[in-house]
Amino acid sequence: MRTSGSREEHRVVVVGGGFGGLQAVSHLRRAPVEITLVDRRNFHLFQPLTYQVATGALSPDEIAYPLRAIFKRDRNVRVLLAEVADFDLDARELHLRSVSAVPSPERLGYDTLIVAGGSHYSYFGHEEWRMHAAEVKSLESALAVRSRLLAAFEAAEGEPNAEARDAWLTFVVVGAGPTGVEMAGQIAELARDTLRRDFRTIDPRRARILLVEAADRVLTSFPPSLSAKAERSLQRLGVTVLTGRTVIGIDAAGVTFEGGDRGGERIATRAIVWAAGVTASRLAGRLAELTGAEPDRAGRVTVEPDLTLAGHPEVFAIGDMVRVRDAGGEPVVLPGFAPVAMQQGRYAAGVVRARLRGREHGAFRFRDKGNLATIGRAAAVADVKGVRLGGFAAWATWLLVHLWYLIGFQNRVLVLIRWSFSFATHGRGARLITGASTTSEQR
Ligand SMILES: Cc1cc2nc3c(=O)[nH]c(=O)nc-3n(C[C@H](O)[C@H](O)[C@H](O)COP(=O)(O)OP(=O)(O)OC[C@H]3O[C@@H](n4cnc5c(N)ncnc54)[C@H](O)[C@@H]3O)c2cc1C
Repeated sequence: MRTSGSREEHRVVVVGGGFGGLQAVSHLRRAPVEITLVDRRNFHLFQPLTYQVATGALSPDEIAYPLRAIFKRDRNVRVLLAEVADFDLDARELHLRSVSAVPSPERLGYDTLIVAGGSHYSYFGHEEWRMHAAEVKSLESALAVRSRLLAAFEAAEGEPNAEARDAWLTFVVVGAGPTGVEMAGQIAELARDTLRRDFRTIDPRRARILLVEAADRVLTSFPPSLSAKAERSLQRLGVTVLTGRTVIGIDAAGVTFEGGDRGGERIATRAIVWAAGVTASRLAGRLAELTGAEPDRAGRVTVEPDLTLAGHPEVFAIGDMVRVRDAGGEPVVLPGFAPVAMQQGRYAAGVVRARLRGREHGAFRFRDKGNLATIGRAAAVADVKGVRLGGFAAWATWLLVHLWYLIGFQNRVLVLIRWSFSFATHGRGARLITGASTTSEQR
């Protein structure tokens, strides 16, 4: 292992400029190391707010920040736009692929590797559903959702046939975790509030918003009392919550599900948002294959209590793509939330710094600071160390936490201004239909 005393600095390569990777780099930038941050995007995306881009409340640049700008003052941090295609763990090298036709080196050597590739939505083996039911994980897909939602109102306005018009005005969100709940609440506000006076032949307030969930309640990661509170808030906004329903088919004209009183149902809709199942980054599967570590059903690679791969103390894997062995050797799945990835990024940086000083470091321990989900205007639920909040207090907490963690001073100010303005006027300034994908795909 090269250390600060060696002729060359210790080379740390961090894969992924998401929540985990960013923390790892930030907590290593003052250490005597040479850091390369590799990402296939040139920006950090604040995923907790992509649903607001998808519903026209915020613009893309307000929730994304260039990685180069974040580390512009750190001379030992290099940002590399490239996709990691493979690992050569014996040679301690990454294989890279160029992105957006920007040339990149084919191989990149490291002394320490920190992999934080995140996760993506899975369609339970039905990839064909993806084209009809977009998700909001990436900026591109959030913009596609925004265009589809707004295009559906436009299409309804010009549709003479009542049945076809109703289909355009039916919005289905699949999955009632925090993202699904937030999406359904925002679509309801868009229809009942923002667009209320914008059309001439339709009344957007008549739109049906359905939230479909296989479990028996919404927000299963929260205590049942808060799930019930969230469901009541959704109903007040005009969202129909359909729990105990499993989606079995999605096509251009609608969604079919099993369960419920009637045993199953087909809903005619032209706008479906996918907010169910998550699978770990492909990088997790590859690391599992190379080290013999067993991946779980969601594709997460198992890491040791110090977040390294078995037999490779120089390779850390963190965030959404891992599960962590506890002291007894049992793999534990931590929640797929930003604080887990951030704490793991800071921890991995701490281990690297300790090793450079020749010191030992204890095992990773997650400190759970609570769980938040917003439903709509002044409505949210929060479970903070056993203190359960709903309504305005939870919403204000949600607002402050999200503003605090949003990267970049300028973004914080812009988002605060935008939220204050929207709160006062019920407006959403970013209601733009963009891209070529919308109508041709939907019709
Ligand atoms: C819609 C949505 C809403 C959410 N809301 C919340 C919330 O309110 N609160 C909360 O705590 N959590 C929320 N989460 C979860 C949170 O965003 C994740 O837990 C967190 O992003 C995980 O961090 P990570 O570093 O593991 O991965 P990510 O933040 O996803 O970062 C992964 C990075 O790796 C890069 N990458 C991936 N593969 C490669 C490759 N092959 N080569 C190069 N680069 C690569 C990606 O471009 C990305 O920048 C939400 C997630 C989503 C999708």
